[in-house]
Amino acid sequence: LAKASGKAQMALYSDALQRDAHHRLEMENALTDALSRDQFEIHYQPIVEVAASRSRVVGVEALLRWRRGDRLVPPDEFISVLEETGAIVEVGEWVLREACRQVLLWHANGHKKLRCSVNLSSRQLQESGFADVVARVLAETGFPATSLVLEITESLLMQDGPETLATLRELENSGVRIALDDFGTGFSSLGYLHRYPLHIIKVDKSFITKAAGDERLKAISRAIIGLGRGLRMDIIAEGIETPEQMEFLHTEGCQFVQGYWFGRPQPAGLIKPLLDSMLDPDFDHHSAAPALL
Ligand code: C2E
Ligand code: MG
Ligand code: MG
Ligand code: MG
Repeated sequence: LAKASGKAQMALYSDALQRDAHHRLEMENALTDALSRDQFEIHYQPIVEVAASRSRVVGVEALLRWRRGDRLVPPDEFISVLEETGAIVEVGEWVLREACRQVLLWHANGHKKLRCSVNLSSRQLQESGFADVVARVLAETGFPATSLVLEITESLLMQDGPETLATLRELENSGVRIALDDFGTGFSSLGYLHRYPLHIIKVDKSFITKAAGDERLKAISRAIIGLGRGLRMDIIAEGIETPEQMEFLHTEGCQFVQGYWFGRPQPAGLIKPLLDSMLDPDFDHHSAAPALL
């Protein structure tokens, strides 16, 4: 009996595996021509400089979405597939160009110095000549290198190839800034901060979300902020959802924040009013944010 039920379980298990494999293959196929069919879109989330009296948007992060039929698929569901097939190289370049083009339009519309943050995959950085790709996109769009931020993760640095360091230095020399994303969730080796040209640390949202009632997490957030300041890096706290979280970070000397409290990632057309409202001298981050959600 035990044997029989074991077999039945095996059969169920392999059914599930087959379904997964089938699902994945189907996704791979659908993604093959997603770019040529214009199914990708970019949502933008504001990055805000916090000040005692008045906060302002200093940048936006470009976040990729896939319009598949009537579903808007979030990146966590498909980026890994693009990475495996290698298509992320082409799609990533599209994101870079499209985001630069969009933010440049905002530059011309009252948001002169707005920065544009774009996420990178390790596959992109491992391509030889990646710095040239960036230089070409900047030249073609006319976007200023000094307003571009490229976001990489610790896991990318862990699996870096021999060219990663040289590429990052080349990017730095061209004026582009590099942010270390999701800091605190990987191995958080302090060696990375020393070895690579990094200009910005993004404190992962998992710290921010849980720090409110947790003295130890507060101490860690505080330490990361202090570390960044000592290294003369900018610190951006991710995942700010409440005014209390923002107060805490502001008190600790964290200059930049990003999160649903200020605005969710939204299509370009919807983010413009938010950018404009934050140019308003009467904008008050204590009361205005919920109305914007
Ligand atoms: P990320 O770069 O760390 O981006 C921040 C994520 O946190 C976004 O998720 C954003 O919607 C979410 N977020 C922002 N504020 C809050 C908040 O207050 N609360 C909560 N709970 N979440 C918040 P999203 O858009 O689903 O993106 C997920 C990840 O996908 C990104 O994490 C990034 O690693 C990756 N990704 C997105 N676009 C691209 C891309 O163009 N290329 C590559 N290689 N990766 C991308
Ligand atoms: Mg990011
Ligand atoms: Mg992040
Ligand atoms: Mg991430």
